[in-house]
Amino acid sequence: MKQDSSESALVKLTQIIQSAAKANTIEAQIQHIVDAISETLGVDVCSLYLKQRDESMRLVASHGLVRKHSVVIPAKQGLVGHVMQMQSVINIKEPDQHPEYYFVAQSKEERFHSYCGVPLVYRAQVYGVVVVQTRRPEILSSEYVALLSTLATHLATLLATYPKEVFPGRSKAKHYSGISGAQGVAIGRVYMRSLPRLADIQKLKATNIEVEYSRWQQVKSEALKQLQYERNTVKDSLGEGLASVLDAYQMLLQDVTFEQRITDEIAAGFQLPWAIKQSVGFFSDQFKAMDDPYLRERHEDIQQLGAKLYQIWQASADADMPEGSEPLILVGDQISVSDIVNLTTERLAGIVCFAGGSLSHIAVFANALGIPAVMGVGEVPVLNGDQVVVDGDAGQIVCSPGPSTLREYKRTLSDRRTLETRLQADSQLPAVTTDGVRITLLANSGLQADVLPGLKYGAEGIGLFRTEVPFMIRSSLPSEDDQEIIYRNLIRHYKDKPVYFRTLDIGADKPLSYLPVVKEDNPALGWRGIRYTLDNLPLLITQLRAILIAAAGNEQVHLMLPMIASTEQLDACLAVLNEVHQQLLDEGMTVCLPKIGIMVEVPSCIALLPFWRNKLDFISIGTNDLSQYLLALDRNSPLVGKWYDPLHPSVLHELRRIVTTSKALSLPVSVCGEMASDPIAVVLLLGMGIQQLSMSAAKIPLIKWIVREIAQAEAQALLMDVLQLDNATAIRQKGQQFLASKQLLFNESAPR
Ligand code: PEP
Ligand code: MG
Repeated sequence: MKQDSSESALVKLTQIIQSAAKANTIEAQIQHIVDAISETLGVDVCSLYLKQRDESMRLVASHGLVRKHSVVIPAKQGLVGHVMQMQSVINIKEPDQHPEYYFVAQSKEERFHSYCGVPLVYRAQVYGVVVVQTRRPEILSSEYVALLSTLATHLATLLATYPKEVFPGRSKAKHYSGISGAQGVAIGRVYMRSLPRLADIQKLKATNIEVEYSRWQQVKSEALKQLQYERNTVKDSLGEGLASVLDAYQMLLQDVTFEQRITDEIAAGFQLPWAIKQSVGFFSDQFKAMDDPYLRERHEDIQQLGAKLYQIWQASADADMPEGSEPLILVGDQISVSDIVNLTTERLAGIVCFAGGSLSHIAVFANALGIPAVMGVGEVPVLNGDQVVVDGDAGQIVCSPGPSTLREYKRTLSDRRTLETRLQADSQLPAVTTDGVRITLLANSGLQADVLPGLKYGAEGIGLFRTEVPFMIRSSLPSEDDQEIIYRNLIRHYKDKPVYFRTLDIGADKPLSYLPVVKEDNPALGWRGIRYTLDNLPLLITQLRAILIAAAGNEQVHLMLPMIASTEQLDACLAVLNEVHQQLLDEGMTVCLPKIGIMVEVPSCIALLPFWRNKLDFISIGTNDLSQYLLALDRNSPLVGKWYDPLHPSVLHELRRIVTTSKALSLPVSVCGEMASDPIAVVLLLGMGIQQLSMSAAKIPLIKWIVREIAQAEAQALLMDVLQLDNATAIRQKGQQFLASKQLLFNESAPR
């Protein structure tokens, strides 16, 4: 064994992982790693075993072991199985003396007299074991064990990103995981969108700058024409709300800085495609660097616009649409809205984007159209015409599914269709429990794109309008007039129905790009919501003015304050509201005060509710943040996400306390967090006495179905039962049992 200093070896090993990541195939990556480990540590053998679906361990790469045939160690056997099960290191001499030793015939393993096995663990999941062996009987030094453990962590992270088919022996169907963009399941043939890659454009000198300028003008005007056509098509089929999303592209194209960058590059002597690439790259990087997840994803819009411009320049042809009548799944690096609009076919069944996330515009469109979508799956090796399953519920796709997988998904699809037809038929019926309790179901909204789908799904109003969203999709602060138009539009669509406007919930992790950003160590505990707007009064005042003006003559408008945590904050807001009201009256307008309430989402406000009885008309429980703060768990962190469950008993007890308090105070209470669309949670909330829920519009039919099938008394009884339990897992199980007993368990879990 080499006596390398562990520090330099660590640097080397990190480099190995990084350089292996660049190898062309996964097999080459793995072999590269085991070779390099044995060289760096100076050991005779380095082997990598990967866990199979049946828990057996398959040797997938080795430096030093003879492999005449494939080596699989049965589940829970051998030192490898032991390391895996115990999730701890085994570092011993003479491994064949160990009681767990498993002899692999013809591997010539008996020549080696030392053994050190380290588990590969990533996010609590064991992926495999890396083993080093030497001919001499020796124990690996503690520095080297530490080094190997560090390496194992890197290796596990790398393995976790591999598609499942690289694990030999697992299902042949290729599963790729991404993010759910829109729920639902679709089976169809791949229709590849081969958008030209901006990245491939070369830096070419122009021969005639004037020609490039005039090409730019032509390309730009053609792009504007196409965008306008697409806008009209979307407007006709989906309404103005969704069509306005396309305005972002037009605005970008007409942005003076965008134009300036392009003409500067041309002036510097380059061809138009290069100028487009540079300009797009500049703006895209700016968006990518933003902290806010919504704004960060806007870089896609810029890249799509760039691709469109380049496509026009190049007039390139797309892949042929697969023939026949099978449903189509649009697959591509980034699907653009134009791809959907230009697909004049009823065959569109699903969408798969290599890039993007749940906040991409395309995901918003897919939701509005009710088309299952999976985003961010990475570059998937599929070809035009391949069969693919899009599982929008699980956020995964299955390429070339085997017969049993296909059968299962077809069954899921058919169950779903039956249910959806049933649910949609009931969508305009009131949500009344079997013992006669009327439950009001409202929609959460933010983008104008959500507005019309809400009505289609039977929303009885907007229970939460996240006013920060229209601010976030713009490049400058909307004026009082701009805001008034947005708010008036919403009120108009929901005529005679309640609309709850929440004042800006920005700051911290939701900064507005055009306002100064302050970096904080704990953004969720920092300058956000009302804490931010009270420190930036002009913002709050302008917004309140716009809401009051838009709400004139409408008694159904409610105003909701986010993140209220103290009496001082509440009083300060009420004072501003009264001032704004008086100001508008003084200006001669006939405005009235809307109903005023708070989001109950910071736990410190719960004990203060009785003190605020005469100041509030209602409260709405924001269970997303309330759970985050009660459980001290970042709601957006994938690392701790598995612990985040609003059915945690402490959250349920606290919710019950809020509802009991508000009932005693005769203070109307509703729930507007995601919990309001979780079937089990809904039963428990009904059991507590909640009679108003606000959720993503698409979930309304499902929740309405559940409400109409149960009695509030049953919900109360279930609540009493689960309040005796001390963990969320048991509570979920009880809830599942209840729903199953009422035949309300719609099988959303598709086959894996
Ligand atoms: C909540 O916190 O539950 C809520 C509805 O608000 P948001 O998700 O916008 O923070
Ligand atoms: Mg919140």
